[in-house]
Amino acid sequence: MLQRLEQQSPDALLALIKLYNADDRPSKIDLGVGVYRTADGATPVFAAIKGAERRLVDDQPSKAYLGPEGDMGFVTALVPHIFGDTAPADGRLDGMQTPGGTGAVRLALALAKRAGARRVLMGTPSWPNHAQIVSDLELEVVGFSHAADNGRADMAALRSALGDADEKDVVLLHGCCHNPTGVDYTNDEWDEIAGLLAQSPVLPVIDLAYQGLGDGMEEDAYGLRAVAGRVDEVLVAYSCDKNFGLYRDRVGAFYVLTGDPAATTRVVSNAAALARANWSMPPDHGGAAVRVVLDDEALTAQWLEELAAMRGRIAQVRERLASANHAGAVDLEPLGRQKGMFAMLPVNKEQVQMLRDDHAIYMAGSGRINVAGLTMGNIDTFVSALAEVAA
Ligand code: PMP
Repeated sequence: MLQRLEQQSPDALLALIKLYNADDRPSKIDLGVGVYRTADGATPVFAAIKGAERRLVDDQPSKAYLGPEGDMGFVTALVPHIFGDTAPADGRLDGMQTPGGTGAVRLALALAKRAGARRVLMGTPSWPNHAQIVSDLELEVVGFSHAADNGRADMAALRSALGDADEKDVVLLHGCCHNPTGVDYTNDEWDEIAGLLAQSPVLPVIDLAYQGLGDGMEEDAYGLRAVAGRVDEVLVAYSCDKNFGLYRDRVGAFYVLTGDPAATTRVVSNAAALARANWSMPPDHGGAAVRVVLDDEALTAQWLEELAAMRGRIAQVRERLASANHAGAVDLEPLGRQKGMFAMLPVNKEQVQMLRDDHAIYMAGSGRINVAGLTMGNIDTFVSALAEVAA
């Protein structure tokens, strides 16, 4: 039977990591893989997480099973950070732990399908796994343009997508630090989106995978809170893998907010059944470490400081790129007002290949770069290489 399977191509970005590792040119620059890097090119474990892990080693009483919902202390401790004042305490908001933000996106969309969804409206380009998850669930992707030519969000495209949608549709929105464009909605735009969603039968799913890497923990939650404050139903897919640096520990959470505590309970019971059938229960360690951080004032302060340093470095690199203004035909100015780790450069596949072959600069074939791969020491090299290939 297995003979019937066709060969699949490997994930392009994961393949790029291998090529980068095999390159022995000392000046090589990795702008491919989506992890944060310090000015020294490292992706260290947060000191706050190390502190929490030490406590877990000493104090954790058991590793016995928890259940499909995972560590509810972790899920609850995140709520004020994500939902702020929009978090109701009356049972309308509930959630569960998931294997990473990916698990949360999968769960949210599988649940929407169970509730009758047929199509997922999605700004494009998006994180490639969004479309893969949607099609794996045999839902239809309905793409609309996410970013306009001026480097800002394409609100006209979103308005028209929502205008044409019906009660079998889901809209998948990035809460902040859009991957791959870095183009986020402004607060005014979020207010408009929340108003449109309040009058629409479309179910919003908000994917918040980079909270705190844009303008700040509170600022980056503006859109989610604006929507949560206006609509009857919203699903949230959350990742702690970037803002706590836990990538391989797979730390995520899924939340549901409805207008009625009984409805929320019903939704969560379906989510638990789906989780049980998919992964049974999420891995515990990373979520437990986040819980320990969030339950302790000093560790929380330390984590927020470490996160602020990451955000500051990303902003510094963006400013420096923007101040270079142009690299050949590439306008770098919009990168200064875009948010998060990613940006899309208007380069074609041949130019990406030339950057790799001639300059040891590695980036995704789509032209996406991870700005955290740049440092004050290599930005000038990058800008002149880009100017040369995109003359
Ligand atoms: N959503 C978006 C937009 C992402 O960029 C990512 C990570 N690349 C995820 C979700 C999933 O994150 P995780 O690693 O926690 O599964």
